Amino acid sequence: MSNTSIGIIGGGQLGSMLCSAAKKLNIKSVVISDDKDAPAQSFADEFIFSKYDNDVKIQEFCNKVEFITFEFENIHYDVLKKIDEIKKVNPKPQINKIVQNRINEKDFLNKNNIRTTSYISIKNEGELKSAQDFIPGLLKTCTLGYDGKGQYKIESEKELDNLKIDFDNDYIFEKLVKLKKEISVIITRFGPEKYEVYDPIENIHEDQILKYSKVPAEIDQNLYNQSIKWAKYIAEELNYIGTMCVEYFIDKNENLYVNEIAPRVHNSGHLTINAYNISQFENHIRAVCNLEKIETKKIYNAKMINLLGDDILVYKNKKLKDNEFFFDYLKKTIKEKRKMGHLTIIE
Ligand code: AMP
Repeated sequence: MSNTSIGIIGGGQLGSMLCSAAKKLNIKSVVISDDKDAPAQSFADEFIFSKYDNDVKIQEFCNKVEFITFEFENIHYDVLKKIDEIKKVNPKPQINKIVQNRINEKDFLNKNNIRTTSYISIKNEGELKSAQDFIPGLLKTCTLGYDGKGQYKIESEKELDNLKIDFDNDYIFEKLVKLKKEISVIITRFGPEKYEVYDPIENIHEDQILKYSKVPAEIDQNLYNQSIKWAKYIAEELNYIGTMCVEYFIDKNENLYVNEIAPRVHNSGHLTINAYNISQFENHIRAVCNLEKIETKKIYNAKMINLLGDDILVYKNKKLKDNEFFFDYLKKTIKEKRKMGHLTIIE
């Protein structure tokens, strides 16, 4: 093993895949997670089970590694900043501050003339009742929501009367985009104007959870160019180091909107493990650990299916075809709609 080591904050499946990529590069991985069953412990060289605000454990984690990154964006900003003061974290904590709040994120995008759906901040019932212009819309918590959690679809004014909303949280009310398609662009930025960009990936969600991804996305050249241009612009503007994902909506009139920015490797990019010479995970590790940037090329077209809940059971003992790759996240408990694994099919 080389002397290089990477610390990963968070122990979910994205952490696992980062550990596997590090191993391939001969880099030691140390994962810290507040979940004692964190799946990434099966893939990491070392695992620290700790709350993220335990200063002693954080110091121990920092001492063990040369570079630090994270696999989920909802780490409290103050925690990330504290870690960053001990040992540099990439992507920079400041980026999370923008991206982990849906209002800050959309304000940032609009300030940079990047289209998003229209939106309004909602802090109480009165504000919600006077937001009729945004119906049909989606009310989302400003922070911490993912995979449809903390989201309410509101299709008529009448529905506002029966909604039970916990106004201890702040909300964003987004106008519903008449979706034709969803795509994502994954980009790894190594430094100023130094990128590797993956082809846009087409995504299908069910109940707001990603279910299928495929590359290439069936989109025209304009949307292809625009989505990559915006992803590069965002990465540059954020002074980003590592892999990030820009999730887009395409409406019925072929307009492109940014839905959100994920400051991390992304579920839609799992197919890059089998479809590209360098995966999104390897590129992330390369960028964060200051390794060489290698031209990233698609080798195969591919489809990915997320295995949610007990979908996984069928695959555990299934004989796979040569072009099928099954990933089991080794999560202890199956829960409905929980991401348990995925299958990639190359073509
Ligand atoms: P999010 O948690 O914001 O990524 O939303 C998850 C999924 O919900 C998206 O990928 C879309 O399928 C759907 N969705 C979220 N916001 C909107 C919107 N403003 N208009 C239409 N669909 C949306």
